[in-house]
Amino acid sequence: MKRLNGIHVKHHKNTENCETKQFPMPKRLTVLMSQAMGAPCTPLVKKGDTVDKGQKIGDSDAFMSAPIHSPASGTVADVTDYLLPNGSRCKAVIIEPDGENRISPDVKPPVINSREDFVNAVRESGCVGLGGAGFPTHIKLRYDPVKTPIDTLVINGAECEPYITSDYREFMEDPDDVIDGISKIMEIMNIPMCKIGIEENKPSAIKLMTEKTANMKGVSVVTLPSSYPQGAEKVLIHSCTGRIVAEGELPSNQGVAVMNVSTVGFISRYLKTGMPLTEKRLTLDGNAATKNQGNYIVPIGTAVSELLEFCGAENPEKVLYGGPMMGFPLYDTEQAVTKVNNAVLAFKDVKTPETTACIRCGRCIRACPLNLMPTLLEQAYDRRDGAELARLKVNLCMNCGCCSYVCPANRHLAEKNQLAKALLPKPKK
Ligand code: SF4
Ligand code: SF4
Repeated sequence: MKRLNGIHVKHHKNTENCETKQFPMPKRLTVLMSQAMGAPCTPLVKKGDTVDKGQKIGDSDAFMSAPIHSPASGTVADVTDYLLPNGSRCKAVIIEPDGENRISPDVKPPVINSREDFVNAVRESGCVGLGGAGFPTHIKLRYDPVKTPIDTLVINGAECEPYITSDYREFMEDPDDVIDGISKIMEIMNIPMCKIGIEENKPSAIKLMTEKTANMKGVSVVTLPSSYPQGAEKVLIHSCTGRIVAEGELPSNQGVAVMNVSTVGFISRYLKTGMPLTEKRLTLDGNAATKNQGNYIVPIGTAVSELLEFCGAENPEKVLYGGPMMGFPLYDTEQAVTKVNNAVLAFKDVKTPETTACIRCGRCIRACPLNLMPTLLEQAYDRRDGAELARLKVNLCMNCGCCSYVCPANRHLAEKNQLAKALLPKPKK
């Protein structure tokens, strides 16, 4: 099978052997009403209300959305406007935990008698793609099995971003939840095959999953090359199944549903306990972290500043929400952890290399997994030429950063592609 392009990056998996620990409950949680892809939720509580852990505190009537639940029992200190890192605003529910860890009476295992019950339960769990994309999981499962039959569940265990090891720890610490989640989804959704994609730099996870799935009909482990971005959805589908998701298609058009390993592990736990998504396993690392580097179960709504203090990162020069390739730098360390955070990385001694003229070496083109032309895209963006950007398919760019990474002139290619999408001609109504 022809391999898609990509690059080799240093792995920096410094925390791969760090067993996950519980992060201490902060004195204050800022629970954003916009945590993932889709419509923001409307707060269901008001200032002064008492809340329980697992209680639903935000929801939306929009199809593309998932509810939000309280990560702790306590008091609603405020419901306020909040400025998100991308510049947009949403509501936030500020909770002061009372330390009692009172569980909401609504937290009970869902009763599943049908496929529809299952999909609705996944929605009620607040589950979104935990690998970082944050696509509401119930939408992936709401397909018409007659019109778009799905025959393969692909589990994303690539974790190709440097530093991040939270998915690896899910494999190593909760393998039975992963297997149970896969089995339930295959059984209820009537999906006959499952491919678990894991990069070859995680031999222990490959061995463990191969042993655990040895007697499972239709389930196999696929060893993926350690090249970035193996975890990108289209790349992963191609590597695991040989199928190509064409422009304008969804994975379901190719008979595939993709789920992250931490997502399926969470679904298994939710079906057993009824506890919705209120906390997130994330990696705490970076060269400015002087202690406590590792993987932590962190209550959603915890301020990044608390994590930095915990890992001894005093005045880091750069703090990343996510990995160094696709994460983004934080301008404000009071930003809160959301459902989609899988790492907080703190760096010092950051070098910002000078940008020089393009030498037409073509490395960016060779690196692009989607065969785009980053150098031509940059020129079109600099001319603010929306028609040319459309012709060069900037809409397909997944902002993986491979082009910027390999560019010897240190040109900001991936960054410009993100900005360029705003220049695309608006579709005719
Ligand atoms: S950021 Fe976009 S253009 Fe650059 S390599 Fe990735 S997909 Fe290609
Ligand atoms: S990698 Fe950089 S220098 Fe080489 S062609 Fe692309 S933009 Fe130009």
